[in-house]
Amino acid sequence: MRSIKPQEIQWFGAEPFAIACAADNRCEPPIEKACAWCDEDIAPSDNGFVCLNITLEGEPAPIPWHAECFIRSLCGSVEHQLRQCSCFSATDKQIDCSETDGLTVREEARLAAKIWRDR
Ligand SMILES: [Zn+2]
Ligand SMILES: [Zn+2]
Repeated sequence: MRSIKPQEIQWFGAEPFAIACAADNRCEPPIEKACAWCDEDIAPSDNGFVCLNITLEGEPAPIPWHAECFIRSLCGSVEHQLRQCSCFSATDKQIDCSETDGLTVREEARLAAKIWRDR
């Protein structure tokens, strides 16, 4: 993988899947590296992005994200998008907008990304 510049995003996967997927910023899938969001390893069939993130040691490092996990990090949780969390109501009932019961982090990301795309 060639080195990436700060603020540059690379993508991986079989086909371009987003506007950010230009011909000159495609990279090999970082197979068996953990996704920044869900911590599951990248599989050969996955789509996603590689971003230059700053590690806890303060060093820039290329970090992979599944496409759906990247979208989830921007669009918010399932509850948040459905306006079922406490962000949208001033009731006493506190509903966290960070997770959905019964789903893994990645499953929740897939569902949140689907809701976002289907809008
Ligand atoms: Zn992920
Ligand atoms: Zn919310």
